[in-house]
Amino acid sequence: MLAPSSPPDYAIEARGLDKTYGAQGKGKPVHALKAVDLAIPRGSFFGLLGPNGAGKSTFINTLGGLVKKSGGTASIWGHDIDADPMNARGAIGIVPQELNMDPFFSPAEALEIQAGYYGVPKSERKTEEILRAVGLWDKRDAYARTLSGGMKRRMLVAKAMVHSPPVLVLDEPTAGVDVELRRQLWDYVRALHAGGVTIVLTTHYLEEAQELCDTIAIINHGKVIACEPTHKLISRLDQKTLVVTPQTPLAPPLRGFEDIVFAQRPTGAFTLTYKTSQHSVEELLDRIRAAGVTIKDLSIEEPDLEDVFVELTA
Ligand code: ADP
Repeated sequence: MLAPSSPPDYAIEARGLDKTYGAQGKGKPVHALKAVDLAIPRGSFFGLLGPNGAGKSTFINTLGGLVKKSGGTASIWGHDIDADPMNARGAIGIVPQELNMDPFFSPAEALEIQAGYYGVPKSERKTEEILRAVGLWDKRDAYARTLSGGMKRRMLVAKAMVHSPPVLVLDEPTAGVDVELRRQLWDYVRALHAGGVTIVLTTHYLEEAQELCDTIAIINHGKVIACEPTHKLISRLDQKTLVVTPQTPLAPPLRGFEDIVFAQRPTGAFTLTYKTSQHSVEELLDRIRAAGVTIKDLSIEEPDLEDVFVELTA
């Protein structure tokens, strides 16, 4: 494979990427990607988040050559997908959403076939190494149809890695995968990342993205509405929630908190969600006491990705 002389700054770079499905057809066209600009830094663990129908798969499948874009440009590892499709394709491994596998091949055979498809010479194949890494070495000679759902999912990751691409994309990889297998999958993906592979993950599990990804883009209705380091994205929400359990149950309404979002919880606690730039905990505690409440217990909840997501996609 022809590599650029120095590694690119961006593993994936899309400029004005546009896709309309059914532009010529009879049905109503769907504008799935609207002039998407997205630069995924080399070496990142990147999350592409968005609700169902946001355009995540369309974006991924355009890169993989499964969807023909309507406009714009995209490059993978510095190779333009139009001008240099062979090298672009060779630089990326995509783990698809669906578990589509030939039921008659064993994991070992399937990897050999995939490696052949990518033109990996026999001497450079890593069938054993990959199968061990995804915990399928014991199953190397089993029929694919005898594998569990989680094993099939790991097989898809294995297949995506046969040509040692510098960029691995996982499209909703843990939908329907149980906790233990999910952990195993992430252990492997993390090891790949530690070895220098750029990881792109599409998911609607916010918790997963928050835990794994160092950078996150949020896509909604075919547009990128945020793209930042994860911690920065979360700190964007200038908000915290004070959770107060009163000594005696509150007889609502609590007066004097009209400038703050007040809510009650079934546990008997009440919450005050406030802007950290406008209020301090000290001030709120004074006001709670002034309202005649004796505090039994107290905690502060920080915003998480879910809050940011809700705010941005609302
Ligand atoms: P996501 O992966 O974020 O759930 P998709 O990329 O699958 O979103 O879909 C984006 C939009 O494009 C949705 O409105 C979806 O219905 C539409 N879409 C996806 N694939 C096709 C297709 N093959 N033909 C027509 N419309 C499609």
